[in-house]
Amino acid sequence: MCGLESREHAPHDRMSRAEPIAQTPPWWSRAHGRLEDFLVAYFCMEFGVDELLPIYSGGLGVLAGDHVKSASDLGLPLVGVGLLYRDGYFRQRLDGDGRQQEAPQPVDPEALGMTHETTVSVELGPDTVEAAVWRHDVGSVPLYLLDAPGLTDGLYAGEREHRLRQELLLGVGGVRALAALGVEPSVWHLNEGHSAFLALERLRREELERVRATTVFTTHTPVPAGNEVFDQELVARYLGEDILELGRWDGGGFGMTPFALRVSGHANAVSELHGEVARGMWAGIDTPIGHVTNGVHPGTWTAPELEDAGDLWEAHRLLKARLVERAGLDPELLTIGLARRFATYKRAGLVFSDPERLFSLPVQIVVAGKAHPADESGKDLMQEIVALSRGSDRVVFLEDYDMGLARVLVQGCDVWLNTPRRPQEASGTSGMKAAMNGVLNLSVLDGWWPEGYSPEVGWAITGADDAADAEELYRLLEHEVLPAYADRERWSAMMRASIEQLAPRFSMHRAVVEYVERYYLAAHRSARR
Ligand SMILES: *Cc1c(COP(=O)(O)O)cnc(C)c1O
Repeated sequence: MCGLESREHAPHDRMSRAEPIAQTPPWWSRAHGRLEDFLVAYFCMEFGVDELLPIYSGGLGVLAGDHVKSASDLGLPLVGVGLLYRDGYFRQRLDGDGRQQEAPQPVDPEALGMTHETTVSVELGPDTVEAAVWRHDVGSVPLYLLDAPGLTDGLYAGEREHRLRQELLLGVGGVRALAALGVEPSVWHLNEGHSAFLALERLRREELERVRATTVFTTHTPVPAGNEVFDQELVARYLGEDILELGRWDGGGFGMTPFALRVSGHANAVSELHGEVARGMWAGIDTPIGHVTNGVHPGTWTAPELEDAGDLWEAHRLLKARLVERAGLDPELLTIGLARRFATYKRAGLVFSDPERLFSLPVQIVVAGKAHPADESGKDLMQEIVALSRGSDRVVFLEDYDMGLARVLVQGCDVWLNTPRRPQEASGTSGMKAAMNGVLNLSVLDGWWPEGYSPEVGWAITGADDAADAEELYRLLEHEVLPAYADRERWSAMMRASIEQLAPRFSMHRAVVEYVERYYLAAHRSARR
């Protein structure tokens, strides 16, 4: 994929590991291979394909990368479109005070084996910007990445106007790039609202009705403040007054989610619970919102060591050894993983709310995660946890959470902890990665977990507020999790049940097949009409 042969598991190895559903011929040609001219263009502001290409910040990007990889495994005709951030998403270091410091991680497309395909220009207000279009192959799926000096420097960096210009480049420039390359999609998928300006470019040639019929929009954000909004005045300055009506919503300003919904005939949320929340949030807009529960790419996230493992517990011990060595922990203690973006609703501090009670238990915790560079309260919370870790041999903070560290964590912990404030976690995919590796989930019943949870595969936290959730978390650790861990037979049976029951259901292959059968085929048929 990108000339990285020296790595322990080159991305190419992860791609090509056979999945039962990805046989030869692959699923697509067996199921729908006779369809002509079918092609999905999948747009996203970030793609997490590999840690060596740091153009993703977290869950959204990793999901997009997994979508593209499963499309490749399934033989689905799809191209990805995104931006190439020359400074990468930041590398995290902790300073002497335990506070996050950020450094760039430069991305060099040529060194990564990308090819320069064409150049497009996009008018941004009074300026015209020229963008290079790079091609990065992910298995059989081409990913086209736009790169404009001064504009695609950083991911989620800069002022609102800078962000608007980036989104215009992605949407408008992305459509132009595909046209310049002779790529003709029949289906357009907006993964989050950031790329919705692509509809503007399409509206220059096609009727709104036709644009809608061929566009699928996936919303990811049940937190109202997480839905991106621009000042109307700013949008009008770039795009004129007429467009404002399409982004109107109760919260004021130009909302990218309402805009994306109005230009899409098909829309979905990313878990069953999130579907209910999203339908409530956007009830005033006609587009019906269904749900396709997220999944994760098995070849990327499942430890090869677990394949054909005769003794699951022994295989797990080896994976755990790799983690505890890196973290300087005790291989015998129950090891809990807590890897989160430090956003308030994720409540990374909940498990530490009563340190005395926590440290009276034979457990150790590995924490990782970045805070958004501008999120001072997220950084404050992180600093508190780092201070705790510096005063204890039972808590370790591992710096610079990325896909590589995520793999070590979701494969090497015993328990995966997730304590968001319900119902603010749309899906949460790290728990799915853990489940596929027999790492047992202990989680608030939010996001995907109401669909995945049963007492055979993990534990559910169901308190009514922060204090009740913390109490239930400690009670579960004391009375359920630790006694189960002390009984190797029982623990191994739960690990096996987690893998057998959850791995197929939360595989990205299942999710991509659902996108095809619920949305892509319908959109494709309208394109052909
Ligand atoms: C999977 C993943 C995420 C998303 O996990 P959540 O459960 O949504 O927090 C974020 N960052 C990285 C690096 C990941 O691999």
